Amino acid sequence: MKVLVLGGAGYIGSQAVRALSARGHQVWVYDNLSMGHRQSVPSNQLIIGDLADQALLDHTLLLHQIEAVMHFAAFAYVGESVHHPDKYYQNNVVNTLHLFDALKRHHIRKIVFSSSCATYGIPATIPITEETQQHPINPYGRTKLIIEQALADYAQAYGWSYAALRYFNASGASADGSLGEDHTPETHLIPLVFHAIQGKIPYLEIFGDDYPTPDGTCIRDYIHVEDLASAHVLALEKLADRTHLKLNLGIGQGYSVKKVIETVEKITGKKVPIRISPRRAGDPPELIAAPAKAIRELNWKPRYIDLESIIETAWRWHRDHPNGYGKMSKS
Ligand code: UDP
Repeated sequence: MKVLVLGGAGYIGSQAVRALSARGHQVWVYDNLSMGHRQSVPSNQLIIGDLADQALLDHTLLLHQIEAVMHFAAFAYVGESVHHPDKYYQNNVVNTLHLFDALKRHHIRKIVFSSSCATYGIPATIPITEETQQHPINPYGRTKLIIEQALADYAQAYGWSYAALRYFNASGASADGSLGEDHTPETHLIPLVFHAIQGKIPYLEIFGDDYPTPDGTCIRDYIHVEDLASAHVLALEKLADRTHLKLNLGIGQGYSVKKVIETVEKITGKKVPIRISPRRAGDPPELIAAPAKAIRELNWKPRYIDLESIIETAWRWHRDHPNGYGKMSKS
């Protein structure tokens, strides 16, 4: 299939691009490089452009005869979304609706959309199934839910097929060590734990140790980024006429912030300097997926099913690329 991957130079998008190409799809990446990295995708597949640039989007969709899109191009920092909701509604909602207009103009009816476990807010029950009520508690989660709802309406009206993939916590790096996590600013737990042991930050702040969890710190379901990518490819290939998929992508295991730190210490043999800080705005105490539906519907087989193996790949990346993509040669 001819696929345009919006936000394909980012952490998860670049893994999806690689997985799509490996399956023989023809892939182009559309990315404004505000968060993505030029070095993470082959240069002959990269179109540098903004989601808001309708003319360039039109040109790209037409030129490459695009048949399906994967849409990763969004802001995804929960804390930032609380303080700058305008940025989130503008990009994640308004620009995405413009993208949908373009898809409509070009009769493209297959969309794989990056949604999030943040759409569930504080779930009534754990683990979270796809039927769990979605009541997001931060602007980021609300922007993702709005687009899920728009997708359902557009799909109904215009005959689209879509997969809304609700990710839990993407983590790890590619097994061959070539693609990994490099955000500026970095806000995610696992990379920041490495930054703390590498002396790039003085200590790791634990955002709250008074949550109603066994050790008082937040619990998340960490899913390896290559497993996320493989689920995207399977979801795309599953999109036949009027298929509407809403799937949780996690491994079904929760780990606390303290457990993540302990695992990093075990793998690296280094002590993580920590400090207990107040809770971060917008953080639910516990998010764990029930991934059974994704496993069943996609015939998806996540390869990384424990935290240690995920963190090992992340450590290899951070150890070998202490400056992220910054010091790598351009591809
Ligand atoms: N967290 C933390 N210190 C940090 C960054 C994150 O204690 O410096 C916690 C955060 O409060 C959350 C968990 O780690 O409970 C995972 O946060 P992350 O930002 O990695 O992902 P999110 O769950 O927000 O998508």
